[in-house]
Amino acid sequence: MTPFHYQSTAQRVVFGTATLNDLPAEIRRLDLRRVLVVSTPGHAARASQVVEGLGDLCAGTFAKARMHTPVEVTDEVMTRVRDLAIDGTVAVGGGSAIGLTKAIALRTDLPQLVIPTTYAGSEATSNLGETRDGKKRSVKDPRVLPEVIVYDVALTRSLPVPLSCASGLNAMAHAVEGLWAKDANPVSSLLAEEGIRELGAALPRIAEDPGDDEARSRALYGAWLSGMVLNATSMALHHRLCHVLGGAFDLSHADTHAILLPHVVAYNAPGAPSAVARVARALGADDAAAGLFDVLRAGGGPVALRDIGMPADGIGRAVDILMQEPPWNPQPITRDGVGGLLERAWAGLPRG
Ligand code: NAD
Repeated sequence: MTPFHYQSTAQRVVFGTATLNDLPAEIRRLDLRRVLVVSTPGHAARASQVVEGLGDLCAGTFAKARMHTPVEVTDEVMTRVRDLAIDGTVAVGGGSAIGLTKAIALRTDLPQLVIPTTYAGSEATSNLGETRDGKKRSVKDPRVLPEVIVYDVALTRSLPVPLSCASGLNAMAHAVEGLWAKDANPVSSLLAEEGIRELGAALPRIAEDPGDDEARSRALYGAWLSGMVLNATSMALHHRLCHVLGGAFDLSHADTHAILLPHVVAYNAPGAPSAVARVARALGADDAAAGLFDVLRAGGGPVALRDIGMPADGIGRAVDILMQEPPWNPQPITRDGVGGLLERAWAGLPRG
């Protein structure tokens, strides 16, 4: 076998339906008595429901989490962390809520219990992206990894179909890039292929019937597997491009990943034939890029970067930013190649 390195992580995972009921016991298991419950403004009602079940274990709430973890919001929550003398945090929501408890943990090492309600996969990683003055900086630190994940499938039922599919494709992007990563290993590749298989089967079913709990359960499981791949491997062109576009044009995180993924897979296919063949096999598709585009279209959400707010003249700017510091990638990154990729993604042209 090819020699490899693999770093396992210590994290407790509770998976099922109505597992929210287990949260007080999980908090006590960590010996915590005063937690802060964190959410985005849009998910404050769900957070209140969580708070009701916690009684005295909840010391307060903070419902101002935002995408890309701006440091101004972190500064504000840190005041509450100190004023309330909390001993742990609970995030209820997607990557934005979880990003904020991770930012608190980076500064304090306070234990985190996270309840993911999207498929972004952030809960399984030690990675945190923080934004200061419009620039996103990524850190990887063991303090950032949440101690406990409580996956409650029931909480994902309310995730609208387009966001479910976009978010699921965001998770698949971790797994796809993990397959062609320079530090891929047999364990991460096993998790990646299975993550893509679960999500690829589940997302079209969710699009047909958003109340299909079995499909929601498989999507959440696939999201966890894919999050573990993100944690275990180094990402390449796809994640860097999403980072560039998100930072430069403030585009929706999940939609950017979902729209770009089929195009990046087509671009990288010559440089990573075996990884791309594994993606196609996991999707049960003849062509990996076309299979991913089908999943994107099934969600009924945006399929073009122009539809999520990217200006046409932004393509050149994005290429310039990318070329200042191009990442490692299995296929050589060229100005013309990436420009063409972005033009197709901007117009929403199908792949295949
Ligand atoms: P999000 O957390 O921003 O949520 C998107 C919107 O959906 C929000 O308005 C939220 O309130 C709402 N929402 C969430 N769950 C819902 C539900 N079940 N029902 C109805 N509405 C719901 O979106 P996201 O894509 O999960 O997270 C994006 C953020 O996560 C970005 O900042 C990204 O950088 C970060 N992220 C980090 C990692 C990592 O490993 N560090 C991985 C993936 C994403």
